Amino acid sequence: MANSEPCLKHMVTRVAINGFGTIGKRVADAVDAQDDMEIVGVTKTRPSFGCDLAVKKNFPLFCTFDTQEKIDAFAEAGYDCKGGLSDLLSICDIIVDCSPGKVGAENLEKYREAGVKSIFQGGEKHELTGKSYTSSANHLENIGVDCTRVVSCNTTGLSRTLVPLFESIQDKGTLSVNSVMIRRAADPGDSSKGPINAIKPVLKVPSHHGPDLMTVKQEIEITSLAVAVPTTIMHLHAITVELPSNHGLSTKSVIEMWRKTPRVIVMNGTDTKITSTAEVMELARDIGRKWGDLHEIFVWEDGVSLQGNKLYYFQAIHQESDVIPENVDAIRAMMDIEKDWMVSVEKTDKAISAYYGL
Ligand code: NAD
Repeated sequence: MANSEPCLKHMVTRVAINGFGTIGKRVADAVDAQDDMEIVGVTKTRPSFGCDLAVKKNFPLFCTFDTQEKIDAFAEAGYDCKGGLSDLLSICDIIVDCSPGKVGAENLEKYREAGVKSIFQGGEKHELTGKSYTSSANHLENIGVDCTRVVSCNTTGLSRTLVPLFESIQDKGTLSVNSVMIRRAADPGDSSKGPINAIKPVLKVPSHHGPDLMTVKQEIEITSLAVAVPTTIMHLHAITVELPSNHGLSTKSVIEMWRKTPRVIVMNGTDTKITSTAEVMELARDIGRKWGDLHEIFVWEDGVSLQGNKLYYFQAIHQESDVIPENVDAIRAMMDIEKDWMVSVEKTDKAISAYYGL
C-alpha cells in the first residue's frame, strides 16, 4: 500500500468498556454517539440483567474475567459472549474502566500487560494513575498519556464552576474555597446503601472531594466537608469562595461567566419554580437524554452572591451522568485526536444530542 493512503485502522478509535454498570452503560452510549470512536465491546462479570441492554444496543458482550467457566455461564443463560477480558483487550485501542471503586489496581496491571491505554473513574485514587482529568481543567496535560482518571462526579462539578472562576482572576491571585457537599445516599438503582432516615457526616475531615480538585487544578486551594442525606437523585454543593481583594468581579459578572461556560446551566429558582433538586431532575427528564440524565452542573442564579471578597453559591450535580461527556473528551486527549478542550466538548455534546434526537 502506498504510504500516502490513509490508514483506516486508526481513523476511528476502538473503545472497550470494562464494567457495564451505572457509569459504564452511559459512557458506552456517549462513545457510540461519536463519529471518531466506536464501541468494540463491553464486559459483564456474570449474565445478569444488564446484558440485555448490551444485546439491545448491539455492543459485543465479553466476560470481565478470562476463566472459561465464567465465560461459559453467559451461553448457558442465552447470551452470546465473545470471550474474556484478554480477548477484548486484543481488539481495542483504549479501555474505559467503569468497575466499582478500588478494584482498579488489579485491572490496570492487565491493561498495561496488553499495551492498551486506560481511563479509570473517580472511585479510584489519583495515585493509581498519576494523572487525573476534567475537560476544562487539564485536557492538554492528558494529551497522549497512557492512563488517566476522570475525577468523581463531585470533583467534576467543582471543576466546572471553579476553573473558569480561577481563570478570570488568576493574574490577581488565587481562590480559597470551602465547599460543603450534601451527598445522595445511593443511586436510584442501588438497594444496598443508605442512610434512609438520617444525615450522616463524613467524619474524615476535610473530605476527599474538595482536595481532589487539586489533582486537576493544583493552584486552587480547597477544602470540603461532606454529609450523606436520604435522597437518590442528586448531590448539592454549598460553596464559599474567598477571592483576591482586587478581584474586579460582581455577582452579575460571575453569573454571566457561568452562563457562557460549557456544561453549566444557570437558572433563576424563584422565577422558574426550580427550587430544589427534585425540579432540577424534572427539567433533566424534559431535556430528554436517556435515563433522564443531566450532564450539566445546575447553578441557581438567585443563590449566587458576591459580598466583598466572598462569593457564595449553590450547585446541583447529577451524580450518575456529569462525568459521562468528560470520559469522551478524555479519550480524545489520550488518543491525541483533539488538543483544544472546547472543540472536543462541543463535538461530544452535539453528537450526544443528535444521538438522542434532541
Ligand atoms: P456500578 O456498581 O453501577 O457498576 C460497576 C460495574 O462493574 C458492574 O456492572 C459490576 O458488575 C462490574 N464489575 C465488578 N467487578 C468488576 C471488575 N473487577 N472489573 C470490571 N468490572 C467489574 O458502579 P458505578 O456507579 O458505575 O461506578 C463505577 C465507577 O464510577 C466507580 O469508580 C465510581 O466511584 C465511579 N463513579 C460513580 C458515580 C455514580 O454516581 N454512580 C459517579 C461518578 C463516578
